[in-house]
Amino acid sequence: MTERNDIGGGSSLQQLLDQATYQHFQEQMASICIEAGALHRIADHVEQKGYRSVQLVVDEHTYAAAGKELVLILGKKGFQAFTTCVTANSIGDVIADEAAIVQVLLDIQHNHADVVIAVGGGTLHDIARYAAYTSRLRFISVPTAPSVDGFNSKGAPIIIRGYKQTIISIGPEAVFADLNVLVKAPQPMIAAGFGDILGKYTSLFDWKFGAITSGEPYSLASELITRHALQHSVSCAGQIAKRDEEGIALLTRALMESGVAMLLFGHSHPASGAEHHLSHYWEMEYLKHGEKQLLHGAKVGCATIEIAKLYKQLQEQDWGLQAKLNSNIASHWDEIKQHISAIPAADELSALLAQVGGPTSYHQLGIAQELVARSMSEAHLVRPERYTLLHAYNMETGHMNSRSGA
Ligand SMILES: [Zn+2]
Repeated sequence: MTERNDIGGGSSLQQLLDQATYQHFQEQMASICIEAGALHRIADHVEQKGYRSVQLVVDEHTYAAAGKELVLILGKKGFQAFTTCVTANSIGDVIADEAAIVQVLLDIQHNHADVVIAVGGGTLHDIARYAAYTSRLRFISVPTAPSVDGFNSKGAPIIIRGYKQTIISIGPEAVFADLNVLVKAPQPMIAAGFGDILGKYTSLFDWKFGAITSGEPYSLASELITRHALQHSVSCAGQIAKRDEEGIALLTRALMESGVAMLLFGHSHPASGAEHHLSHYWEMEYLKHGEKQLLHGAKVGCATIEIAKLYKQLQEQDWGLQAKLNSNIASHWDEIKQHISAIPAADELSALLAQVGGPTSYHQLGIAQELVARSMSEAHLVRPERYTLLHAYNMETGHMNSRSGA
């Protein structure tokens, strides 16, 4: 795929990045095949690498969408292809928890697998990634929906005893994103992928905020790659909404670019800020109460709206000038306000989500107002090491409340 490319003023990524970084970016992207019929390229890859026994990780839906065909393709070429169909929990959710990971590990051991292939969405990737890493095997990614940007990341968010933790493990050695499969993905999953991308407005802001006020590490290259993916997706929202091959290809590519930006930086900062912390908070709460999980990107899209609302309010009130705990906030407030201005207003974000057919508010997602309010004051505790504006705001508010109560 070579379409796409404008950041704002019409510059391509090649023009924006220095030559060495652009080459590094291209090398990462070279292992990602996004095309119709990509499933058929997997056998050649498996052969080149000298693998014999292949462990597929699927669920019942992704087996039907692509797993079954891939088993046939690999079988015809003489490879042993085994399938682990990860069992859903009692309410029908596949969760990246101890049970799912051990299920895959047992099959890897029993079948003497020498490579693991994740066939599915983000959760199946997390399970397969962590099981492969633990078994010291490589893994291959076969996304069945353009629903998240984590396919090509190294981080495996897994749930252990009800708590979500992200273990840095391994990225896929190759990604095969078959457009024939992806265009048939359920519409809500495509809208979720777009929601995960829209979250970059606030994640990029929060990352910048942390760098300015708290010395968090920063990479201009990873910012530019992420912003490029974001702006290209937003300018092509109409095309993505059509769900034709071209629209799905460009959303998939944007999600992969966001993943590469994280890989190059080595952490999730470019793609994950306060909007993701809200989403993780909601997810853990649902898990705690045994409620059916919502799509990650759908939550991120709606969380982005809530964070944008708060940040715009703080901008209007010149909140940063009164911040006491961190003097860098007041001294850099003008610069911070400029960066807040780059986040679209809540109604623009809602309109974009609506255009692609995703939920446009937490009400629509069915999340209780009480939970949203609580998460707005506690979500920063999900990643206490990240200094987002939400984190800074909650620390100040807590500080003022404790002073006024004293
Ligand atoms: Zn995400």
